[in-house]
Amino acid sequence: MHVIILGAPGAGKGTQSEEIVKHFDLKHLSTGDMLRAEIEAGSELGLAAKTVMDKGELVSDKIILGMVESQIRNSGKGMLFDGFPRTTVQAEGLDKLLKSLDSGIDHVVLLDVDNEEIVERMLARGRDDDNEETIRNRLEVFNNQTAPLVEYYRDQDKLSTVVGSGSVEEIFARVQKVLAS
Ligand code: ADP
Repeated sequence: MHVIILGAPGAGKGTQSEEIVKHFDLKHLSTGDMLRAEIEAGSELGLAAKTVMDKGELVSDKIILGMVESQIRNSGKGMLFDGFPRTTVQAEGLDKLLKSLDSGIDHVVLLDVDNEEIVERMLARGRDDDNEETIRNRLEVFNNQTAPLVEYYRDQDKLSTVVGSGSVEEIFARVQKVLAS
């Protein structure tokens, strides 16, 4: 089973992802975590990515697709995609790659949280790229570049929307229902 968790920055994708991979025995692929590991390691890719991330913009599709390809090819088990795909080009790239492996996406879970709650949550989280200006830019980038994926997956009949407010357990119970169906 391959699952995508989709939602605005701060919607709680990371937290729900932890629960999902534990419960459904999937491999967690978070492009945000992979990029932060590159930054930590001081690699050239990390250096280039940091400038873009600090502005709240998106790392290029080419870099992202290059970064995930071997992980997907060599995963050998079901995967949970968190923070990826983020653009239509990435979604098409993922579909193409999975198809070449005789596989595909089974479920796309959209975590739905309203904008005000998102800004509050992210300011409370206080990560490096969580200042108010960057947050607003990331929400705008999400609306412009990632929100079209909702239609993309709805057209494929794969999209389920889950209300993303409440406790971690409450939200996970909703996610679980979707993934068990
Ligand atoms: P959040 O969900 O809070 O935005 P992430 O950890 O998913 O946090 O991403 C942090 C930053 O990393 C993004 O703002 C973006 O700059 C970069 N990034 C992560 N995943 C991708 C991706 N698939 N495509 C382009 N940029 C990405």
